Amino acid sequence: MQTTLKTRKETYRTALLKKRQELLLSARSEPEALATNVQSPDMVDFAVQSVEQDLTAVTANLRTRLLKEVEGALKRVSQGTYGICEGCGEEISPNRLKALPWARYCIPCQEMRSRN
Ligand SMILES: [Zn+2]
Repeated sequence: MQTTLKTRKETYRTALLKKRQELLLSARSEPEALATNVQSPDMVDFAVQSVEQDLTAVTANLRTRLLKEVEGALKRVSQGTYGICEGCGEEISPNRLKALPWARYCIPCQEMRSRN
């Protein structure tokens, strides 16, 4: 069974690395998008664009957080604690990890946390 677990972890690791790459790449393309937005003289456009810029800021914020989660998960993979819930110490279900490879909590713990 150990080989299976190892293979599974390798799959998660690959998914995490891919996600991290995606996040880093989209962060890099951002300054250009912002620069294009600022260049319109039209006030109506300007109003629309400041909303768009706000959205970009929110996305950047989310991305930074997600990147941190992904890097934390990669660290747990190398430490051998990956897939263990930080709340109760139980194993996080493979289905959850498949959907959310950087998950730190099992579903019951996550639900408890979002309620509080
Ligand atoms: Zn838990």
